[in-house]
Amino acid sequence: MLADRYPFYLANRPRQPNEDLPVVDKFSGEVVTRVALSSAADVEEAIAAAVRAAEPMRKLPPHARQAILEHCVRRFRERAEELALILCVEAGKPLRDARGEVTRLIETFKAAAEEAVRGGGEVLDLEVSARAEGYRGFTRRVPVGPVSLITPFNFPLNLVAHKVAPAIAAGCPFILKPSDRTPVSAMVLAEVLAETNLPAGAFSVVTPRLADIGPLIEDERLMLLSFTGSEKVGWELKARAGRKKVVLELGGNAACVVDKEPGAPLEAIADRVALGAFFQSGQSCISVQRVLVHTTHYEALKALLVARARALRAGNPRDEATTLGPMIDEPAARRLEGWIHSAVARGARVLTGGGRQGALLEATVLEGVPTDEPLHTEEAFGPVVLLESFESFTDALRRVNAGRFGLQAGLFTNDLSRAMRAWDDLEVGGVVVGDVPSFRVDTMPYGGVKSSGLGREGVKYAIEDMTEIRLLVLKQG
Ligand code: NAD
Repeated sequence: MLADRYPFYLANRPRQPNEDLPVVDKFSGEVVTRVALSSAADVEEAIAAAVRAAEPMRKLPPHARQAILEHCVRRFRERAEELALILCVEAGKPLRDARGEVTRLIETFKAAAEEAVRGGGEVLDLEVSARAEGYRGFTRRVPVGPVSLITPFNFPLNLVAHKVAPAIAAGCPFILKPSDRTPVSAMVLAEVLAETNLPAGAFSVVTPRLADIGPLIEDERLMLLSFTGSEKVGWELKARAGRKKVVLELGGNAACVVDKEPGAPLEAIADRVALGAFFQSGQSCISVQRVLVHTTHYEALKALLVARARALRAGNPRDEATTLGPMIDEPAARRLEGWIHSAVARGARVLTGGGRQGALLEATVLEGVPTDEPLHTEEAFGPVVLLESFESFTDALRRVNAGRFGLQAGLFTNDLSRAMRAWDDLEVGGVVVGDVPSFRVDTMPYGGVKSSGLGREGVKYAIEDMTEIRLLVLKQG
């Protein structure tokens, strides 16, 4: 069960001021708990503490960083069901999906615990010129220093883990600002971190009002801003971030191509596309939004996908049988419903779904959506998928590339040369052959190009961003 009230964490310690932030059950719309609100002064204090903790964090030996991460893994395992219930309530995730996210949280921390002791570096022969004879180079990675981490609502735990666990492995003190719509799970994570031997001040998890967030973006003592969230906010923050490194994990409108080959396993493909499109009510940055199907398979796959959309059980996420929960709130569902109406007014056909009750939008499949409609050009971020057919593979790749997003793309084909062409030509961070673009494991490099972002997450890659190469040059004799 949820507590009545949760503290925020400043310099490793819980704080319980009078003011707080109500947290709503995303299915019932009722306030179910509260999280203490951080002030502008708290944000300043968190930054000052992180700056002071930079040296002790840097000097914390790798085995000690690993032990901290391993402690978290153990505690998350012990508290897994509690965390899943929190996600279910604060994010509206069906319980089975919430449990899946907790599993990924554990996997992400486990991966970071392994990376923490990996060490590494290079030995460089610098004798590339006569003037460098007798010189050798050695590299290692050192932490960048205090980092600022901002996360969205849709994976309130695992996206926090993707920033926090690499920061600990790298040796960076951090200040995390979770989404104000889903702050509870982040506070439980903070409670677990507070049990560890992290140096004093090494972490804060704060909940400032929008007006008080500024220093987390602009303060020059913070060496990196890692932001996951919407395209609009992400690029705006980058413009304000000054000289610090910036990593942006932003939105997408992922496409999936189903190629022409005879005997394609359409039932299995439909299963994966339906999961990719409707999992988490489509509120994933790599949710399948556009499916391009070769004309030979178009009608058959359409029928299979519509059947799967109709078979979903919409309802209360706490009910074990629910497979489609609400969107994050009613305005989000209304926004998407409006886009559906706009497309239909211009000739699109709703093959199933389209209805809405509060924040619950039905799983919706459309075809014939004009390519300049928001449903086609923007990020839907809801349980909606668009079907279109193609004749030429080249044309399909061109259509995947149309538009400003570029996170991941999926391709069902057994043709190796087409798979390689897609890998060459698609303007995305990752191409998934044999599955939907929504496939992700937490160790793989993950991120986008174009409007979808900058830099990569995935534990090892996030650690690279949170560290700098430091070179040692040695002259012999
Ligand atoms: P959002 O941009 O509204 O909010 C993200 C975070 O930024 C929240 O913590 C929010 O409180 C904060 N924020 C909002 N405005 C701010 C401002 N002006 N200054 C400072 N902080 C601000 O995003 P959201 O609605 O929470 O999440 C959904 C978005 O996140 C979607 O676009 C989705 O595609 C994207 N996302 C991307 C990835 C990825 O890895 N690429 C993963 C998950 C979600």
